[in-house]
Amino acid sequence: MKPAETSRLQRLANTAAGVGVVLALACGALAVAASSAHAAAAIVIVNLNEPGVGFNDPTPVPPVGGNAGTTLGQQRLIAFQRAADIWGGTLDSSVPIRIGASFEPLSCNATSAVLGSAGAYEIFSDFQNAPRANTWYPSALASKLAGTDVATPGTPHIRARFNSRLGLFPDCLPGGGFYLGLDRNFGDGIDLVTVLLHEFAHGLGFQTFTDDETGEQIENLPSIWDYYLLDNRLNRTWVELTPAQRATSAVTWRGLSWNGPIVTANVPRVLDPSSNLAVSGGAAGGAAGDYQVGDATFGPPLSNPPVRGQLMPVVDQTNGTGLACTPLNRLNALAVRGNVALVDRGSCDFVVKAANVQAAGAIGMVVADNQPGDVAGLSGNDPSIAIPSVRVTQADGARIKAALQRRSRTQSGVVASLGLNTTRLAGTDAQGRILLYTPSIYSPGSTVSHYTTEAKPNQLMEPSINDDLTHEVTPPRDLTFPLLQDIGW
Ligand SMILES: [Zn+2]
Repeated sequence: MKPAETSRLQRLANTAAGVGVVLALACGALAVAASSAHAAAAIVIVNLNEPGVGFNDPTPVPPVGGNAGTTLGQQRLIAFQRAADIWGGTLDSSVPIRIGASFEPLSCNATSAVLGSAGAYEIFSDFQNAPRANTWYPSALASKLAGTDVATPGTPHIRARFNSRLGLFPDCLPGGGFYLGLDRNFGDGIDLVTVLLHEFAHGLGFQTFTDDETGEQIENLPSIWDYYLLDNRLNRTWVELTPAQRATSAVTWRGLSWNGPIVTANVPRVLDPSSNLAVSGGAAGGAAGDYQVGDATFGPPLSNPPVRGQLMPVVDQTNGTGLACTPLNRLNALAVRGNVALVDRGSCDFVVKAANVQAAGAIGMVVADNQPGDVAGLSGNDPSIAIPSVRVTQADGARIKAALQRRSRTQSGVVASLGLNTTRLAGTDAQGRILLYTPSIYSPGSTVSHYTTEAKPNQLMEPSINDDLTHEVTPPRDLTFPLLQDIGW
């Protein structure tokens, strides 16, 4: 059985292109069949590119970051071999794993791009030694569990595609091409080895084969994943839900948890406390309480003891909102001095807002979203920002603003504390299980088959690549391998 190819890694989270389908193999030439001598599982890369392109691109290139290949194609293969060695040294299987790989044009535009996509090439149920009956397993895992290669002869276990045009054309994330070095010194580039580790994980089994938009199973059989996908509101796994219930949980923010024992046991070793905005004070009223917030990529990360002060809104628009896109006027500066500034999202970069409230003497910044949606972070880079910043949803912002209606020029009676919630690890549910990526707007190729974007530190299997990722796939840094262990690796 060939599943739809659904998992893709994006440069920006808001990319959403159509779901690809498995194509017939165009070219079966085996160009590379090496693997690490120390590997516990042999991984074989099957080069599916035609002569002259992709892995066969003869363009001369200088050595980079420990990658001594002399052509673009060679360097791509060497980066692949590094990723294969990392997974090969982590996994255990007596059956060599074949990855059919190619560089080819994938969806992209000037500001975002699909970096790659990958998945199991075939899925199997009820093979020899299958741990669960009537359940789909990805080809590589089924072969490991069976102790023999169950794949259709001549086919790979995993099919992986990578964007050949990335960074090389004005309409494909110009300037943001793949970094082919092996040392993570990627600068402004995108670390290919990291992307490969991510995509290989999908192919090894980090994906459900159940349709995450409709909830329909392939031939009415669940995937091994579905035994661990827990709707944390209904407290039922996907194997126990109707298709409609599965589809609903896939678009319920924070509504789907991974209920596998090996991942959950490792969560406290890997994840950090979540960032928190605590609202209190005599005037807080119905706004009092803890808010989960989105972190900023600029300024200091939140820590304990919290940064604490009166919460004061910036008001610089005729409609009563405050954008802080220009230096604050006298009244706004007076309001935020020594206090935490509440600013609306919109019209300028977050770092511009932070710089303006910081210049006026604010000790922290809360950005309220200007449109409905899930909690999201604040992007941007400005080394001069020295105050912490967080983002709250539009709904939470409205609740907080309601408590700020009556205030003096310098005080609101509403106290904001920006710190860490040590009782809730970032990206987990109330029972300490890691959440999956379930944005309330369905995102094809990203929804469900990734970890949440709220994990800290960032995890390899989030839907977008982050610059702080390492080449590790195991605890204490990363939870990718524990999930594969949960499903049988
Ligand atoms: Zn992915």
